[in-house]
Amino acid sequence: MNVYDSHRMAVMLENFGYTPAKNQTEADLVLFNTCHIREKAAEKVFSDLGRAYLIKQERAEKGLDTIIGVAGCVVQAEDEEIAKRAPYVDFALGPLTYHRLPEMLAKISRERGTTLIDTDFPAEAKFDFLPENRAEGGCSFLAVQEGCNNFCTYCVVPYTRGAEYSRPVAEVVAEAKRLLATGTLEINLLGQNVNSYHGEDESGKERNLAYLLQKIAELDGLKRLRYTTSYPADVDDDLIACHRDLQALMPYLHLPVQSGSDKILKAMNRRHDRRQYLEVIEKLQKANDKLRFSSDFIVGFPGETDADFEQTLSLVNEVKYIQAFSFKYSRRPGTPAAVMPAQVEEKVKKERLDILQKLLFDYQTKFNEACIGKAFEVLFEQKGRHNGQLIGRTPYMQNLHAKADENILNKIVEVRVTDATTNSLSGEVL
Ligand code: SAH
Ligand code: SF4
Repeated sequence: MNVYDSHRMAVMLENFGYTPAKNQTEADLVLFNTCHIREKAAEKVFSDLGRAYLIKQERAEKGLDTIIGVAGCVVQAEDEEIAKRAPYVDFALGPLTYHRLPEMLAKISRERGTTLIDTDFPAEAKFDFLPENRAEGGCSFLAVQEGCNNFCTYCVVPYTRGAEYSRPVAEVVAEAKRLLATGTLEINLLGQNVNSYHGEDESGKERNLAYLLQKIAELDGLKRLRYTTSYPADVDDDLIACHRDLQALMPYLHLPVQSGSDKILKAMNRRHDRRQYLEVIEKLQKANDKLRFSSDFIVGFPGETDADFEQTLSLVNEVKYIQAFSFKYSRRPGTPAAVMPAQVEEKVKKERLDILQKLLFDYQTKFNEACIGKAFEVLFEQKGRHNGQLIGRTPYMQNLHAKADENILNKIVEVRVTDATTNSLSGEVL
């Protein structure tokens, strides 16, 4: 979501005459888009800001002015902290107000010396005020839903991104058409809780994510469709049917479970237990036997015992995820879990994370190795580190490196996999 938001801010700034700087020392405007999900991400902002301030001072010695701005969820949660710890920051915008960036820049040219802050949850939808989006390459994100009403007890999202909001169907379809017209082949529909999408169609009727996926799958030029991130309890039968019926829908789904223990899922306030989660996986698998899964995991949630953790490992052994993101529980101020008793020691969290990641990597490696010798359609997205090498993605989101001519960038071509590691594949273009 932050990559999407950053791109939309960049397009907005281009319309105001800004162009991307080669590096920070050349930048007249430095804008950090920030994440508050875990403490580490939030703390990084302050060290990045410190470095930006040094560059600002060096530039000032040469008579160059630098505007420093911060956007995103850290602003929503820590606006006063930013103004206090980094008073040289010129402006700070929350994730729901970045459409006001041009106004902010105009204000700054008049009022330097204070940190201007906008952390509104505005009544207007920011999407109505953003300039038209355009594709950056063959793959594009498209935000269809924002915010969350789930209130998992560890999570800041409902506080930083606010209540759920779904963009109207027509608006999403129009943005998808623009992305396709400007060169995209793959669209990834985004939302913090994307499968609770309930945007209105032109007659004012609320429509679900399955309806939206069908509408977008019909568009000329669309080759690949994905959606991220889904909440397991909101996977309905219509959505499951999409995995059977929609050719463009890729056979890879990110369906975070967080923990395999019912006791912990309950304490997390997740609206699903282990059995319900596995039933959803089974139904999806029945609809499309090529479908494979990834997940997010949290280890060391307050009260998690060795036995609870074992349940997470056994769930991984059941689902055999082909990729996953796993994190140590991070105590976020203001969330219910932060003040729960039985916080788990850092050392134990680290041990559990190591064990879990080893198991996850084993499955990931096995899946990648099983791809050797097979042919996949790969969408090449960027140049690799080595000369003549391109990097693309398979339908399963694996990174694939191949020697190939640059003219196949942003195209989908058939590739035979020749080698595999935990994190990537190599192949030859057929
Ligand atoms: N809406 C999505 C995920 C949003 S946040 C969902 O419900 O699945 C992305 C991931 O960050 C979460 O899935 C969770 O695994 C992780 N996360 C969120 N808060 C966290 C915290 N306090 N500590 C550690 N990980 C956290
Ligand atoms: Fe956070 Fe996802 Fe839970 Fe919403 S559903 S509170 S975004 S983890």
